[in-house]
Amino acid sequence: MRGAKTSLKVALFGGTFDPVHVGHLAIARAAVREFGLDRVYFVPASAPPHKQRADLTEFHHRFAMLALATEGEDRFIPSPMEAQAAGPNYSIDTVRALKKKLAKEDRLYFLIGIDAFLDLNTWRHPVELLSQCDFIVVSRPGYSLADVGKALPEALRPDKAQLRRLRGMKTRGAITLPSTTIRLLGTVRKAVSSTEIRAAAQKSPARLQRLVPPEVAAYIRKEHLYVPVPAQPEKESTIPLKVLSFDRERRSSR
Ligand code: ATP
Repeated sequence: MRGAKTSLKVALFGGTFDPVHVGHLAIARAAVREFGLDRVYFVPASAPPHKQRADLTEFHHRFAMLALATEGEDRFIPSPMEAQAAGPNYSIDTVRALKKKLAKEDRLYFLIGIDAFLDLNTWRHPVELLSQCDFIVVSRPGYSLADVGKALPEALRPDKAQLRRLRGMKTRGAITLPSTTIRLLGTVRKAVSSTEIRAAAQKSPARLQRLVPPEVAAYIRKEHLYVPVPAQPEKESTIPLKVLSFDRERRSSR
């Protein structure tokens, strides 16, 4: 993909991807179109610090579904770079690791949905993270660039007058800071979430077809993902006792 190009525009798209869905793919395609990205790395978290669900699907399944979903897209690359983390996956560590692999002249973007960006202040080293790469924030209906501004660490937050101006920017626009540029990417109109898919897989597997690529739907069915594991019948704990008492009776009757 580098080919004759001297520098690449690369995006890091992190998430739980449990499972990857048509919304994720639409976001990545829109970002490629809008910002001329050469590569989008889809990076599933092995232990996301912000989503500690006990029923998180095993990493290898989430990664396999990402590989299936991105197969036909030259610019989309599933990356296992967070697979080996000993503890929670912090974005700052992933960004540092990815930057080491890129050429100095390459440009790194952090691709993220606005709902996730709103938690930025609770992340590890948010100011440093913002200094390491540019951001592409995907909007959702009801949000504007002002919400992006309000979510910034205090030292970087726009003042009230600036926030008022940003309120009118709902689908595009940018906040330019000395260390980073945060661009808004217009709403990707795919009202879908992984939560909805996990529920659909239990109630109506046929609905999966319009929420995930067909290969991913087939994988979910084949591996019986997102369906409750049938409860094991309880073992008959009285049997050994009966045997014991039977033995005792036999012994005493000798
Ligand atoms: P869940 O329902 O389990 O919370 P999710 O559908 O939000 O999952 P994630 O893997 O957590 O999927 O999302 C990865 C990234 O994609 C996040 O930045 C999230 O904000 C963004 N995202 C996911 N779905 C959409 C969507 N339909 N529109 C805009 N952004 C989205």
